[in-house]
Amino acid sequence: MEKQHLNIKSAGGWGALISSGKFLIREGFFKSSQTLFRLNQTHGFDCPGCAWPDPENSERSMTEFCENGVKAIAFETTKKRASKELFLQKTVSQLNELDVYTITNQGRLTEPFYYNKQNDKYEPISWEDAFNIIAKHLKNLEKPDDAIFYTSGRTSNEAAFLYQLLGRMIGTNNFPDCSNMCHESSGVGMEESVGIGKGTVSLEDFDKAELIMIFGQNPGTNHPRMLSELQKASKRGAKIVSINPLKEAGLVSFIHPQDIGQMISNKATAISSHYYQVKMGSDMALIQAIIKYILEMHSDSVDKVFIKAHTSGFEEYKKNILEKKWPFLLEQTSLSMEEVIEISELYLNSEKTICCWAMGLTQHEHGVATIEELMNLLLLKGNIGKEGAGACPVRGHSNVQGDRTVGISEAPKEEFLQKIDSVFNFKSPRTHGFDMVHAIKAMHKEKNKVFIGLGGNFADAAPDTKLTYEALKACNLTVHISTHLNKSHLICGKEALILPCLGRTELDIQLHGVQSVTVEDSMSMVHSSKGRNVPASRDLKSEPAIIAGIANATLGNKKVDFLDLISDYSKIREKIEEVLPSFISYNNSIENGEGFELYNSAKNRVWKTKTKKANFIVNEVPNLTLEKNHLSLMTMRSHDQFNTTVYDTNDRYRGIKNKRKIIFLNEKDVKKLRLSNGEFVNIQSHSRDKIKREVLNFEVVVYDIKEGCAAAYFPEATPLVSIEHHDKKSFTPSYKFIDITLEKTL
Ligand code: SF4
Repeated sequence: MEKQHLNIKSAGGWGALISSGKFLIREGFFKSSQTLFRLNQTHGFDCPGCAWPDPENSERSMTEFCENGVKAIAFETTKKRASKELFLQKTVSQLNELDVYTITNQGRLTEPFYYNKQNDKYEPISWEDAFNIIAKHLKNLEKPDDAIFYTSGRTSNEAAFLYQLLGRMIGTNNFPDCSNMCHESSGVGMEESVGIGKGTVSLEDFDKAELIMIFGQNPGTNHPRMLSELQKASKRGAKIVSINPLKEAGLVSFIHPQDIGQMISNKATAISSHYYQVKMGSDMALIQAIIKYILEMHSDSVDKVFIKAHTSGFEEYKKNILEKKWPFLLEQTSLSMEEVIEISELYLNSEKTICCWAMGLTQHEHGVATIEELMNLLLLKGNIGKEGAGACPVRGHSNVQGDRTVGISEAPKEEFLQKIDSVFNFKSPRTHGFDMVHAIKAMHKEKNKVFIGLGGNFADAAPDTKLTYEALKACNLTVHISTHLNKSHLICGKEALILPCLGRTELDIQLHGVQSVTVEDSMSMVHSSKGRNVPASRDLKSEPAIIAGIANATLGNKKVDFLDLISDYSKIREKIEEVLPSFISYNNSIENGEGFELYNSAKNRVWKTKTKKANFIVNEVPNLTLEKNHLSLMTMRSHDQFNTTVYDTNDRYRGIKNKRKIIFLNEKDVKKLRLSNGEFVNIQSHSRDKIKREVLNFEVVVYDIKEGCAAAYFPEATPLVSIEHHDKKSFTPSYKFIDITLEKTL
C-alpha cells in the first residue's frame, strides 16, 4: 500500500517561496508585498501570526518573516471585501452552508453589521447605534456574570487592558480566552512547579543549548521561524530530539528560503538528530521513564547542588518514580527500553537542555500533570535559570501571553485586583469567572447571556461544536469584533452584531495622532507594533476604540474616561504601568523599537511557589489503552491554516492538495480495519457522557503516524471533541486525544 509519506522531504525551500508568491498574487501582490518589508521590523508592525520572538535589531534581516507570516499579511491586506453587497446577496443560512475555507476568504469586513432576524440577513448599522444596542444589553443584565468577554490572542496589550477594565467595571471576571484552549495547562503546571506560567528561555539560549527537546509541537507550520534557530543549532552540533506521533517535515529537515546558497544547492539541513514517534498523550509516561532510568542507573548525575538549594519534594518524588513499573511505562510510551535509554543518555550528556512544547502536551485530560513532569525533568539537572537551558512553551498566537499578563484571566490574582481598584477607584469583582468550558455551559444552560468576542472564532475553536453553536444561539446578544468574516458571525444570538476592526498593518489614528500598540512574545519580550497601511475601509475602528465606544455608551465617563484613554494609547500604557510595575517606564522602553523583557522570577531562580522553592510534583500516569479497533485521534492545523483561519485547502508538507475532510492513518491500522487509502469513512467519538458525536465522509490517507493514532484537521473534526473531556485543573479540552472508531461510508 503506497504510503502518502512525506512527498516533501524538507520544510522551507522553493516550495515556501512559490507558495508565498501565490498568496501574494492571489490577494493583491503590490500592497501585500510592499507591506512585508515592515513585518517584524523595528518601528514596523508585529506579525499577527504566532508568538515566535524577533531577533535583536542588529540580528534582524530585512525579510524577518516566514511563509506563514506572508500568508497572514496577504490575508490581512487582501483586496477582497466582505461588504454589504455580500450580505445583500446571501442570507446567514446560505452563508452557513459554505465550507470553512470559503467563509473565511470573503475578504475584509467593511462596516458594522446588525443581524435582521426577519430576513435572516446582516444589514449595515452605524457605530453609535451598535454601541447603544450593546449598552442596552449590558445595562440590563440580570447579573454581571451574564456578560462574557472572550479574547483571542491577536488582541494588543492596550486593547486587552481596556477590555478587562470594562468587564470588571461591569462586575464580572468572565474572561475566557484562547489560551484556555491551548497553553492553559502550561500556565497552571508551571505555576505549581516553578511559580510562573511563562517560558524561562530567551532566543539567545538557543545558541548555547547542547540539547533541544521538542515535545508535541510542529514548528514547520505553527512557528516556522523557529526552524532558523534549530538549523543553526543543528549546524553547530547540538542534539535535537523530536517526540511526536506524526513525522513532520519541519522536524526532519529544512532549507532556509532566505539562504541563497542552500536554495541553489537544494541541500537541506537535518533538524532532528533523533525522532521518536510516540502514542498521543504518552509524553508523561516517557518523561517518567527517562527520569526513572536516570535515578536507577545514573543517580549521581543529577544536579544535587541545585536540587538541595532550590527545590522541594525531591525525595518523595524519587521514591514514587522508583516504585513505578517498567512494563506499564513502556507500554504507555510504546517505545522500546533501548529507545528510552537512548533519549535518557542524550539528556544525561547535556549540561544545557531546552525543552520546547506545544499543544501535543497541553490539550489532554492530563495536560497539567504532563507539564509538571516535564518541569521535574528540567529540575533534575538544574535546567531552569541557567544559560542555554530552560522551559519553552511556544505560543501559537502573537499576543496570547500579553493578554494574560495585562489582566485577561477568569481567575485574577488578588494583588492585581487591588491595584486595579486603587488606580481606577472602584471595587472589582472577586468571584472567579468563566473560562471557555464553563462559559459554553453557562450560555447553554441559562440562555440569557451577552457574548462579546474580541477577535478569534469562538464557535469553531471551541470543542463540542453542536453544543457550542446551541450555546451561542441561546444568547440574548452576540457581538464579534473581527477583521474577516468567520463561522462565529453566522451562529447568531437573539440579536447579533459584527464590528469590523483595523488590522495590525493598518494606520491607527486617534485624537492625538498615529498610535502604536504593544505585544508580548513567547519569551516575555514586549515590543511595539505600528501599522502604516491605509485601512481596508474608512468605517473601521481600532480594537481599543471599539472597546472605548462600548464602555462609554454603557458606563459613561464619570469613573473612567475611556475615550480620553484612547486619544493617545500612551495613556493606557501609563495605567498598565501603574497596575503592573513590571512594565518599567513602559512608554520610553518601547520608543526605541527594541522593547523590553518582562522580569521572569524562575529564570532568576526566584521561586514564587507556595514552598518558595521549585517543586518536584508527583503525578500518576493515566492508562490510555483503548478498546480493540479504537484509535486515538488528534485535531491539528494544515500548513495553509492559522488557528481556525483556513488560507487554502492544501497541506504541502503532508502531501495534501485541495482537501480538508481527511483522516491520517497508519498503514497497519488501515490493514487491520480493512480500509484502503482514499476510501471514505464516518468517524464516531466515544466519551464518558455517552453522547453520540460523528463526522461524515472523511477520506482515509495513509501517513507516517504512530500505529493506533489518527489525525484530522480542525474545525472539521472538532464536533467529535466532548466538552467533558478536559484537564481537571486547566479545563483545556482534550483535542489531542479523542477515542474514535471508523465506519466505512456506504
Ligand atoms: S514565525 Fe510566526 S511570528 Fe514569525 S513570521 Fe512566521 S507566523 Fe509570523
